[in-house]
Amino acid sequence: MTIFAAMQIKKVTAFPLRYQEPNDRLNFRHVTLAKTETDNGLVGWGECISQWPEAALAVKVLIEQGIGRVLLGRDPLENHALVLAMKESCWWYGDTGMANFAISALDIALWDLKARLLNLPLAVLLGDARDAIEVYGSGGFTSYSVQQIQEQFAGWIDQGIKKVKMKVGANPSADVFRVRGAKQAIGGDVELFVDANGAYTRKQALEFAENFAAYDVRWFEEPVSSDDLEGLRMMRDRAPGGMDIAAGEYGYDHWYFRRMLEAQAVDVLQADATRCSATGFLKAAALASAHQIPLSAHTAPSIHAHLCCAAPIACHLEYFHDHVRIEHMLFDQVLEPVNGCLYPDRSRPGLGIELKRSDAVKYAA
Ligand SMILES: [Mg+2]
Repeated sequence: MTIFAAMQIKKVTAFPLRYQEPNDRLNFRHVTLAKTETDNGLVGWGECISQWPEAALAVKVLIEQGIGRVLLGRDPLENHALVLAMKESCWWYGDTGMANFAISALDIALWDLKARLLNLPLAVLLGDARDAIEVYGSGGFTSYSVQQIQEQFAGWIDQGIKKVKMKVGANPSADVFRVRGAKQAIGGDVELFVDANGAYTRKQALEFAENFAAYDVRWFEEPVSSDDLEGLRMMRDRAPGGMDIAAGEYGYDHWYFRRMLEAQAVDVLQADATRCSATGFLKAAALASAHQIPLSAHTAPSIHAHLCCAAPIACHLEYFHDHVRIEHMLFDQVLEPVNGCLYPDRSRPGLGIELKRSDAVKYAA
């Protein structure tokens, strides 16, 4: 028996949006919002980064005319059954890639909807283990000058953030110079992370691990390709003490995370609910916990703040420059760091954020 016996999912809608990154004027980027709606007008919101226009179009079609249609008429409280139904609906073309972006956006929207139906913050609905999660400032793009990186990091440090991350790997000959400049600016009390996005070969990554250690780099993300599990394992074994090897942001299901953990490829597992769904993020947390490996959330701070508070194994959340900007462009009530942590708003149901409709319209793709 359900206390909302008469309630059904009536409508699913996708809103592809595009925006410009201030330091990348040539290119637009794309994010797709998913809305789930019950027959009595309650709504939940989710999102995925679709990045390119053709991907945004594909995700919209999948949400409104494909995968999302299996939700219509269903009970909005049965999240696990709903995500299984969505995955089964695309068995022929596979539940990865574009399909998984659509599923993830819808799954997040379904959790937001359920929490709003029950008038609970999502973290509370999921059974929170803590009231806040630490964040690390993330940006330091390879297109930035050292001075731009230093200014960006100073802003986060002023907000009380104690860990900051920069990108490396696009121009290896400049990486040690850039890392040295960043470390000189942040000083000894703030931890420096680097993310190579898989750009280095194994031998290069080993050499850079030694070079970065001279500047007290504590986190080396994707030193080699995330698909090179042996290479990641080698880096984990041979990188200097105090330097964590991290990967996992591209994981789309629990099988991916299991393979990475069983290969003992990472010191810290990463997961992204906008790629692996909120339900998948919680599964990644359970797997990480069983392997005694900390879990770090990749971008989407307003969503992951709730999920991380419900995941005891979560260690921190990526406060990604670009995604923070999108959240402020599109939503009201976006969380701000307090002493370097995000505290989900316990006075607001669901994810606690509200779409700024008139502003969002300006970004319609
Ligand atoms: Mg990364």
